[in-house]
Amino acid sequence: MNEPIIRGWCPGARRPMQSGDGLILRLRITGGRLAPEAACAIADIASRHGNGELDLGRRGGLQLRGVRGDHFAGVEAELATLGLLDADPGAEAVRNVVASPMSDLDETAQGDAFVLAKRLEVALVADTSLRSLPAKFGFSVDDGGRFGLAEVPADVRLRLMRDGVALSLDGDTRAIMVETEEAVAAALRLAHAFLELAARTEPPLRRMAMLTAKVGAEAVFAVAGLGRESATPDHHPDAVRLIGAFGTHVGVGLPFGRLTANQLRSLADIAATDLRLTPFRAVLLPGVTGDILPRLAKVGLVISSDDPLLAVASCPGAPACGSASIETRDLARRLAALKPGARGIWLHVSGCPKGCASSSAHAVTLVGRDGALDLVLDGRPTDPPCHKSLSPEAVEALFRSGTI
Ligand code: SF4
Repeated sequence: MNEPIIRGWCPGARRPMQSGDGLILRLRITGGRLAPEAACAIADIASRHGNGELDLGRRGGLQLRGVRGDHFAGVEAELATLGLLDADPGAEAVRNVVASPMSDLDETAQGDAFVLAKRLEVALVADTSLRSLPAKFGFSVDDGGRFGLAEVPADVRLRLMRDGVALSLDGDTRAIMVETEEAVAAALRLAHAFLELAARTEPPLRRMAMLTAKVGAEAVFAVAGLGRESATPDHHPDAVRLIGAFGTHVGVGLPFGRLTANQLRSLADIAATDLRLTPFRAVLLPGVTGDILPRLAKVGLVISSDDPLLAVASCPGAPACGSASIETRDLARRLAALKPGARGIWLHVSGCPKGCASSSAHAVTLVGRDGALDLVLDGRPTDPPCHKSLSPEAVEALFRSGTI
């Protein structure tokens, strides 16, 4: 528990990742539900042991940033006291489950994703033969309501429906229906089928989408012993807007997924029940009304879905990330001020081609390379650029002139 095992990617609380600004520790909060007392305690840990900044990731994980190496043992001890530390790194790694955040309060939800996600986590940890799953291999539990997870990356998807649970695989659109009580066991069988089939490839495949592309989803379902009966898609309600005041909750946006310790404390102070961390770069507060929004705006949280910052994705860039050769977030803020979202431009500023902030294609993607920026239109950071080696000033000029 004393010496940090430094990992190069996909960190946990047990296995931190070294970054340009210190260690990153990712906390996996079951179902994204965080009690206000725990949120305050995490904010204190971030202030005392880290650089006071946290990131809410694309799978709803909460990352402590800038933790000093000689403080690591102390952080682990405090997380253990809060019940936020897994028994061992393997258990933590396999507990990679994201769930719809508001199942208990969303009348359009088809069931309680939190309960199912918790059962799934317990089963994943108990099945030690799944410890060899690739680090990023993950599951989603979608409640079938307005807070659906269709856009959230997951290798195995569970979606609650009227008559049970629809199971589907990344990279494939078909779904197999199982009874709700059987869903956890079926999801584990799919994970085992992945391990079995992926091991037959050379080099072994690391994500389900790669496997379904190679062998077909039907082969994975067959190895898992799951039938061919397809789920009939339920009507999926329109996605809810997350930011602002709505019937049962208030939502705030986090530009670039970044949250300060003070902002987390403010959210905890205002929360009526618990905080709901979402994979949408937003935190929801159930049971509070819109009159608290000005207080949240005052501490720098986004309270309007029209905020230009929400149309821009950006990774931490330099100097926080050692892989970056350019500064990203100041540039992203300057470009956001030019309101690209108002022109329908969804922008991504990435410090390098890895594209940590977004795996989606964006209308405009800027990619750091050798201290300058490559410009990709309608693509991802790894796609061929149409302009290379631009300075930040040149990019701004292109935006200002309306060329982009
Ligand atoms: S995209 Fe590259 S520069 Fe940005 S955080 Fe990821 S690894 Fe670092």
